[in-house]
Amino acid sequence: MLVYKFGGASINSPEGVCNLGKIISKCDDKLIVVVSAAGKTTNMLEAVNAAYFERNTDESVRILSEIEDYHCKMIEGLPEMSNPVKEKLKYSVKSLVDSVKDFIGDNKNHDFDYCYGQIVSLGELLSSTVVNEYVNSTVKTSELVDARNFITTDSLFREARVYFDKTEKKLENIFSFHNNINCYITQGFIGSNLNGDTTALGREGSDYSAAIIASLTGANSLTIWKDVPGVLSADPKLFPDAKLLPELSYKDAAELSYYGAQVMHQKTIKPLVNKNIPLYVKSFADTGLSGTDISSKKRLQDIPVIATKKNQILISILPKDFSFALEDALIENLLILQRYRLKIHLIQSTPLCISLCVDDGRNTRLAIDELRIDGLVQYNDSLELITIRNYTENLIEQYSGNREKLIMQRDRSTVRILLKNNELF
Ligand code: ASP
Ligand code: MG
Repeated sequence: MLVYKFGGASINSPEGVCNLGKIISKCDDKLIVVVSAAGKTTNMLEAVNAAYFERNTDESVRILSEIEDYHCKMIEGLPEMSNPVKEKLKYSVKSLVDSVKDFIGDNKNHDFDYCYGQIVSLGELLSSTVVNEYVNSTVKTSELVDARNFITTDSLFREARVYFDKTEKKLENIFSFHNNINCYITQGFIGSNLNGDTTALGREGSDYSAAIIASLTGANSLTIWKDVPGVLSADPKLFPDAKLLPELSYKDAAELSYYGAQVMHQKTIKPLVNKNIPLYVKSFADTGLSGTDISSKKRLQDIPVIATKKNQILISILPKDFSFALEDALIENLLILQRYRLKIHLIQSTPLCISLCVDDGRNTRLAIDELRIDGLVQYNDSLELITIRNYTENLIEQYSGNREKLIMQRDRSTVRILLKNNELF
């Protein structure tokens, strides 16, 4: 049995959905297909939630109608589907969008993250509904499975943690491949908590969902279909001489995704390592290309690999009374960041100051307020963190030369440079 994951960019148009159909028509194995939200739908839904919290319900409803139109146009453009099937599908899309409009009208729970889960999950519910109907009516018999029926999480609605044992138990009866069904379609990114409320696993979390499903069902492999030829040595939009990395070890892939390479969601590798399941990253547009092969036996060649993380903030914490015992203060501050689900990308310390580089965002500002209770906190925002593996002095100069460096940390193989302003060149 295989697991395929398709990202939002691969299914952002009728042509994309057809291409997905072509790819899975060539697969004779039993298959579970995990899809992200189509195109930029998740960003739009985040805007719906933000407008709702600014009490601008009209704007929320307007964006939701735009999302409905986008999916209906996509359905219009799908070939080989009869008009009645298309009409039925458009009706399903409308019902899903209406349920979020109703939520916005009726909701009494004003927790931002809770509402995020209920609203932003719509993207994957829509894309999976469209993809399943297309596959089922033109490619092969398929069944739509709601990921919320098995991905079980805690209640951190925007970045929920998965309970593997509970998820595994629920999965036992879900993908049973009965009655000649050899293809299931399900959503990435979403799950549900113990009360049955919808939760989200964090941005770009569909890769992680696919890895969990592959691991807990004991799949033979996971393939992530992407809009690039495989894992590249750098983001080709920023570094035109980026090269394909034909193979990577799990360790390399985990490290590169942590550093911010456009590989896959950070948490993807761990569930695969546990069961030794190979991961293939392949080109959605040119399926003949060999892509990148990731497993325990492979390794990264010695070529330079560059990863960047934009929108970073460096938080510097100083004790109010000079009383730093570094270990205690560090642990207390880290616990605060952990509570706000902030990922720390770099740490630097001096006897009287701890500096932490994290993603900037809503939670970051809330965490800063809490850090200020016991310390003096300063921060620098709009930063960029560049990591170069197998660096040379020339590469450091080339990518950071004329920009102000706030921090530079290096060991024998890797250099990490925190730079002012988001723009690379
Ligand atoms: N749709 C979600 C996002 O855009 C999850 C994903 O794409 O993996 O973040
Ligand atoms: Mg996406």
